[in-house]
Amino acid sequence: MSANQGVKERTLVLIKPDAIQRSLIGSITKRFESKGLKLVGMKMMSLDEAVLREHYAHIADKPFFAGLSKFMQSTPVVAMCWEGLEVVDAVRRITGITKAREAEAGSIRGDFAMSVSCNVIHASDSVDNAEVEVKRFFKADEIHSYDKSEYMHVYADDEL
Ligand code: UDP
Ligand code: MG
Repeated sequence: MSANQGVKERTLVLIKPDAIQRSLIGSITKRFESKGLKLVGMKMMSLDEAVLREHYAHIADKPFFAGLSKFMQSTPVVAMCWEGLEVVDAVRRITGITKAREAEAGSIRGDFAMSVSCNVIHASDSVDNAEVEVKRFFKADEIHSYDKSEYMHVYADDEL
């Protein structure tokens, strides 16, 4: 096995204010841990309008943006960086579609949410965006490298 089990791919997850208010931090984090992903960064932080405009640039001109921005500033969020093989895609699948009441049962949004806006988490939607988003929310020294002993049971030898 290579040092740090070879950095595979990293993605950003934000636990949103509805999940903070509903005491779902543990339940949500547990889903990613149980999947076999490696947590390499985690912190609570308050977001401001500037970072939200940047993070949600693709929807900043939509009528719902003002409400979304207010919602995202209503409590701190928990930012997490997860690492794993093809982790961006895997986390999007676990997350479920945006409109939570139609999200697949078993996904986080499918199991924990009913709203289009209050859909408990954000997850990066592509490898390129994940790289930008991890850097947006974490300084380099807030991302940690370590070997996880359970990896030998999570992946086959030829995947490590
Ligand atoms: N959103 C909203 N109303 C909409 C569409 C999106 O409030 O009609 C919010 C919602 O919180 C969503 C976020 O904007 O998660 C980002 O939208 P995107 O289309 O990127 O969805 P996601 O990638 O989060 O599934
Ligand atoms: Mg998105």
